[in-house]
Amino acid sequence: MNVKMVDLGALHARLASELDPAIMSVVKSGAYIKGADVSAFEEELAKYLGVKHVISCGNGTDALQLALMALEIPRGAQIITTAQSFIATAEAAALLGYEPIFVDVKDDYNIDEKQIEAAITEKTAAIIPVHLFGKSCELSAIYKVARKFSLYVIEDTAQALGAKYEIEGEQKKVGTAGTIGCTSFFPTKNLGCMGDGGAVWTNDDNLGRRLRMLASHGAEKKYHNTAIGINSRLDTIQAAILRVKLRYLDEFNVRRQKIATIYNSLLSDLKDYMTLPQYDEKSNSHVYHQYTIALKGDSQQRDAVQKLLKERGIATMVYFPVALHRLPVFAEANKDKHLPNAERLMDNVLSLPMHTELSESEIRYVCQQLREVTREIYG
Ligand SMILES: *Cc1c(COP(=O)(O)O)cnc(C)c1O
Repeated sequence: MNVKMVDLGALHARLASELDPAIMSVVKSGAYIKGADVSAFEEELAKYLGVKHVISCGNGTDALQLALMALEIPRGAQIITTAQSFIATAEAAALLGYEPIFVDVKDDYNIDEKQIEAAITEKTAAIIPVHLFGKSCELSAIYKVARKFSLYVIEDTAQALGAKYEIEGEQKKVGTAGTIGCTSFFPTKNLGCMGDGGAVWTNDDNLGRRLRMLASHGAEKKYHNTAIGINSRLDTIQAAILRVKLRYLDEFNVRRQKIATIYNSLLSDLKDYMTLPQYDEKSNSHVYHQYTIALKGDSQQRDAVQKLLKERGIATMVYFPVALHRLPVFAEANKDKHLPNAERLMDNVLSLPMHTELSESEIRYVCQQLREVTREIYG
C-alpha cells in the first residue's frame, strides 16, 4: 500500500463538479486580477471568521509582512515569536528590520505562554503566536501579557484556519481576538487554493484601510500612491476556488479531527516510544493541519523510523528539522540562546499522513507499520 502525506488530486476529484465550473467561469470572464470572486471571497471569509475587514493577498508570508507594515512599528523593534515554526513567521519581521526574539515551545509544539513575559524588553513591539499543526495557542494568557505591556498580537493562523479557543468565556475562531490575523492558502493548508494565496484581517477600520492600501502599491486611489507598499494580490481563479472550498472548511476540519482520533486510539499502546498529540474533543481547539508525534531517542532513531516507513510505502515529514533560532540565518544572533524543548523536538518530531481523503484502511496500515518499525528500532 502507498500512503501519501497529502492527496490534493483526490480532493479535487471529489469537488470537481463545483471547482471546475468555478474556474472556467473566471477563465471565460477574462477578469483574472481583481475579478468579482476576489471581493466575494473576502466577504465570505469575513463572515466565516466574524471579523470586519479581510484583505486577500499573494501568500501567507506577504500577509505577515503586510500586518507588520500596517502597524508602523519602528525599525529595530523586537518581535516575539515561537522557535518552532516555518521560517516565514520570523522572516517577515527580519526583512522589515525587526529583531525576531524566539521563545521556547511546550510539548504541544506551541509557544510557551509562560515564557513570553521574560522575553519582553522596552524594544518589544509585538507578539506573533503561531497555532502550529492546527492547535490553537493559549491565547487568553498571550493576550493578557500583551495587554499588560501594550503589545500588538499578530496571529499566524496559516495551519489552523477554523480552529477555536475560549477567551473570556467566549468561543472565538483563531486570529480574531487581536490586532491582526494572517493566513495562507498554500495548496496543502486546511483551506488551500491551487497556487499561492493568503489573507490578512482586522476589526480596526483604520488598519483595514492601511492593509488594503499597502497590498496595492501604497495606493488607496489608483495612481495616487501615498505610501511605499507592495504588490500582493490573490488571483481571481484562486478566489473562485477558495469560495467553493470555504464552504467545506468546517467539514474538512472535522474529518481531520476524526482521523487524529483514530490515530490516537490505534497508537495508544506505543506510548513508551512516542508522545501523541493531546486533544480535547469538545473544544475544537485543534484542526490537525498535521498529526505530529514526538519519538523518543535521538534524530538518528527518528530518521531510521522514517526510512523504514518509506520502504513500506508510507510518506512522513519532519516539521521542522531545525528550530528557527538554529537556522543558519538566525544562528549567529542566537548563539547564546538555549531553547531546550525546541532543540529536542527538532530531533524527535515526525508528521504522519494527514489529509481529508485519507481512508480508514490507510490509517490502519500506517499504524500497523509504525508499530512494527518502532519495535524494530527501539527493541
Ligand atoms: C505556510 C505557512 C506560512 C507561509 O505561507 P505561504 O503562503 O507559503 O507564504 C507562514 N506561517 C506558517 C506557520 C505556515 O505554515
